[in-house]
Amino acid sequence: MGRWFPAGRADLPYFCVVGSPIAHSKSPAIHGAFAAQLDVQLRYERVEVEAGQLAAAVAEFQAYGGRGMNVTLPLKEEAWQLAASRTPRAAQAGAANTLWFTDDGAVAVDNTDGAGLVRDLEVNHGVSLAGRRILLLGAGGAARGVVPALLDAAPASLAISNRTPARAAALCASFVDRAVLEVVPWGQAPETRPDVIINGTTLSLHGELPPLPATAVAAGSVCYDMMYANEATPFVAWARGLGARLALDGLGMLVEQAAESFARWHDLRPATAPVIAALRGAR
Ligand code: NDP
Repeated sequence: MGRWFPAGRADLPYFCVVGSPIAHSKSPAIHGAFAAQLDVQLRYERVEVEAGQLAAAVAEFQAYGGRGMNVTLPLKEEAWQLAASRTPRAAQAGAANTLWFTDDGAVAVDNTDGAGLVRDLEVNHGVSLAGRRILLLGAGGAARGVVPALLDAAPASLAISNRTPARAAALCASFVDRAVLEVVPWGQAPETRPDVIINGTTLSLHGELPPLPATAVAAGSVCYDMMYANEATPFVAWARGLGARLALDGLGMLVEQAAESFARWHDLRPATAPVIAALRGAR
């Protein structure tokens, strides 16, 4: 028995999601549903791996014959660091959530969070981001991960607001060759009201709201909380209360980023709508 994976070799093509805490991850259910839909044989499990342990866990995973790994909090930067190759969007994001091995055994990574967010907004909810003014709250791993995909969607502007201003400034600086991102002081809204507000902070996890003025939201606004929960998150409830056109949580993003990982590993694209519907029904 290894520290994280059993001794010997996996019986089926083996995948997992690693992070800490990991007990409540929905990834096994999502990948299991995709596999059933497309008749793919696999085993997908949750594995608790703490900060600082990813390199050792990946080595053990590879020896076990593991094929692909999803990486979540707090390991996304570690995954990025230990990769020998990165997709362009992962390279830009500075964080990775999808890992596999190339033919010569080297670690490769991708970041599918941004594509998942944009697909959920554009495909599932019909929100075209082209020409829109976007306000992104937060400058942590998730916010950083979605910036490349948001820029690919050609918004009119992308503003970043974060409690720690230096982190917002650092995020903007790392994309300076692609676009001019505006930093908005925490607690303020941009001068021109944004069309789309994305909450990429962990505030909803603690039942709290970002201190945005109510004037930031109007009848045409789209508000998106990357967090998801059985009931409306505080940010979703706040946006609904202010009459936003759409107030969405991050469940669709979760399923869409998983579909991107699945497509990367299996060369097959699963249908996401039935899986989102099943998860919504189950919660
Ligand atoms: P990080 O820990 O990397 O970043 C946390 C962010 O929240 C930082 O911007 C931080 O600001 C801010 N923050 C934390 N506490 C406070 C506070 N009290 N007041 C103001 N700002 C605060 O987390 P992640 O970026 O990885 O995750 C962010 C969220 O996105 C999580 O809720 C996560 O579940 C969700 N997520 C959802 C996904 C999905 O598929 N739906 C995928 C990935 C993430 P500061 O810099 O000042 O500390």
